[in-house]
Amino acid sequence: MSIARWSETLISTLRDDPQDAEIPSHKLMVRAGLIRKLSGGLYTFMPLGCKALRRVEAIVRQEMDRAGALEILMPALQPREIWEQSGRYDIMGDVMFKLQDRQKRELALGPTHEEVVTLLAAAELKSYRQLPRTLYQIQTKFRDEIRPRFGLMRAKEFIMKDAYSFDRSWDAADESYRKMYEAYLRAFARCGLRVKVVEADTGAMGGQWSHEFMVLADSGEDGIVECDACAYAANLERAERAFPELEPYPDSDKAPEQVSTPNAKTIGQVAAFLKCPPERLIKTLIYNVDGRTVAILAPGDRDVNEHKLARALEARDLALADDETIAAATGGPVGFSGPIGLTIPVYADTALKGLRGAVTGANRVDTHVLNVDLDRDAAIEAWHDICFAENDDRCPRCAAGKLREKRGIEVGHVFKLGTKYTEAFSARFLDEDGQSEAMIMGCYGIGVTRTLQSVIEQSHDEKGIVWPMSIAPYPVAILNLTPGKPDCVEATQTLARELDEAGLDVLIDDRDERPGVKFADADLLGFPIRVVVSERSLAGGNVEIKLRTEKATPVIEKDNAALKIRQIYQDSIKALIL
Ligand SMILES: [Zn+2]
Repeated sequence: MSIARWSETLISTLRDDPQDAEIPSHKLMVRAGLIRKLSGGLYTFMPLGCKALRRVEAIVRQEMDRAGALEILMPALQPREIWEQSGRYDIMGDVMFKLQDRQKRELALGPTHEEVVTLLAAAELKSYRQLPRTLYQIQTKFRDEIRPRFGLMRAKEFIMKDAYSFDRSWDAADESYRKMYEAYLRAFARCGLRVKVVEADTGAMGGQWSHEFMVLADSGEDGIVECDACAYAANLERAERAFPELEPYPDSDKAPEQVSTPNAKTIGQVAAFLKCPPERLIKTLIYNVDGRTVAILAPGDRDVNEHKLARALEARDLALADDETIAAATGGPVGFSGPIGLTIPVYADTALKGLRGAVTGANRVDTHVLNVDLDRDAAIEAWHDICFAENDDRCPRCAAGKLREKRGIEVGHVFKLGTKYTEAFSARFLDEDGQSEAMIMGCYGIGVTRTLQSVIEQSHDEKGIVWPMSIAPYPVAILNLTPGKPDCVEATQTLARELDEAGLDVLIDDRDERPGVKFADADLLGFPIRVVVSERSLAGGNVEIKLRTEKATPVIEKDNAALKIRQIYQDSIKALIL
């Protein structure tokens, strides 16, 4: 491996947090001199940051190779036509960087590579004998983020590992998916990252099924729920909930009755005015869904989840209707819509099924209807789970558990895509009977730069980074406290050489600095093993060894140090393997 000397490398640590950094990992990456900002969402990896990044890449590459995936490298520049062909040019919208070449041909900087790889598969994979195949690359991706923030977490340019599987049958595609899923678990574990796997929405990627690999962190941008009793966990965009049997309200058999509710518009105001709990109110929202107008009913105390709504209605395009459309569809103003007497299709959240004695809008200004029984009084087209799951909701998988909301950082995502892209690009193969079939596809991403930062988000203390052994830029730092003394220089160099020969990267802090500065920098930079060589310890024939994760600083005989350090290194690398 290699030996580096601080005095010859480029490490600049900062005492203060950068002003634009909001989360610990971003602050630490800048303070430890791992990255430097060029402009919003664009960063340079400095020597130590680059070393750590290459280690993450190496682990991901090894696990992909081990799972049988084949490494390729596709162009980052992609012609516009292929995005038109998949139907995603408009869906990607302004997130995609677009440009022209000198012949005025339109190009995009790839935010992902389903189009390119499916074209490649269509040309190269022709027979069932060539299947299954999984192709992957580790490459820079581009996204025109409106508001880049959190350092590498939401950057305009980032490194991803993206893989794509091609199979002859749905069963075989499940097997390819399983292999990637397991490779992801191993890769994250080897990076020292604890991840939570959650069920996720397929979003703009399309397809049928997906899982996200989440790092739990308060600073995470994704909401997830997990069951406190079983393994169920899901992204909030997708999370389901169980629907307990409803208790009937006291006056639930009465006929509907209109009441005046002057100046009460919000759910809170209506509930207060009528002195009834908000969950007894039904809110009626008017939506435009793929060109038609529909009414959506939800419990008064819940928010409609448009991801779930779109999936339930198999909608491509969905948005709240404007005032004019609401007036035309209901005959009443905004804020007083209700399901009774509507001629547009009405869809209701499953939680409302069996609810009697409810309150709804009356489609008249300042008026509500009491004693509503949806089954009796309204024409419900269908019941769907279309609201957000919340804290304390019952788990949809087990009877016992309650759901808990958490925050997470998405570091990996696996999708079962099916034939969406292989149909669009005619990626077909001949089966044993000479029949032409579309290949079944999966796609799999790991945010490599984001994984690196997530490790720091999960593994730091008040002094700095606490690197896992596997991805630390240098697993060992030797602090020579008196670089002017030949004895100390010689002991430092001998130990460094022994470790280097054993395959470890070593950084020697040979600066003419006070010990306090060297200790503080070593803690900030997070080297897993810190060795101190000083006149005092050498006088006894010893050096000091301190692990970043431990408080103790045991002394050890100088001549046994290399062996001991090797042992610590190998044990902690082994402990990260699943
Ligand atoms: Zn459960």
